Amino acid sequence: ISMIYRTLVEKAIDKVLVEKQNLQLSKTLKTLKSTQEELHNTNRELRYISETDGLSKLYNRRKIEELLRTICERAKFHSETFSLILLDIDLIKKINDEYGHPVGDKVVIQIAANLKHNVRDEDAVGRWGGEEFLIICPNLDAESAAGLAERLRKDIQYNCSELERTVTCSFGVTKWIKGDTSATIVSRVDKALYQSKEGGRNCVTLL
Ligand code: GH3
Ligand code: MG
Ligand code: MG
Repeated sequence: ISMIYRTLVEKAIDKVLVEKQNLQLSKTLKTLKSTQEELHNTNRELRYISETDGLSKLYNRRKIEELLRTICERAKFHSETFSLILLDIDLIKKINDEYGHPVGDKVVIQIAANLKHNVRDEDAVGRWGGEEFLIICPNLDAESAAGLAERLRKDIQYNCSELERTVTCSFGVTKWIKGDTSATIVSRVDKALYQSKEGGRNCVTLL
């Protein structure tokens, strides 16, 4: 009887020990899960920071260049097409000189927000330079991209005017053609933008 009793007591002790270990394990698992979640969030934040321009909150130059290289490769090998829109704020230097650089910054921020709000979900918008923005429009032909640029132009003109003066932008538009590299298509869209500036600004040129 005393042996049976001892075995029963030992079993009961074992059970308590196992339960205690289980509890400890589930606590460790919980901590591990929350650490994993934190790591995931930190990674997401880091990716956002490394891809985003601080002032405009659009893609930064490095990211938009990477997206452009990728879409050029896709166009080359999978007969997908795309168009590019490059725009530059008109005479922002005057705004800086007359109202101060922080007001010029506000104009940059406002235009960036307008662009993001008005492009299609699949379009990618990046800050190409100080006051220049590049939009990659997948699966969009040249005429439709020019139409989109025209809508953006009008919207900026009407909605970005907390100043007394009207803020406008000039646009260049082009589509990918066979044999293009990211350098050749950018040079063509840049030429189109230059023609818009030469043509009196606040307009769209399709090349
Ligand atoms: P244009 O119509 O020919 O483009 O004239 P512009 O004055 O816009 O262009 P210009 O090339 O003469 O000068 C570019 C100006 O853009 C100078 C620079 O101070 C301003 N700029 C560039 N990036 C920013 C920015 O982030 N914030 C502000 N406030 N100004 C900027
Ligand atoms: Mg410029
Ligand atoms: Mg400018």
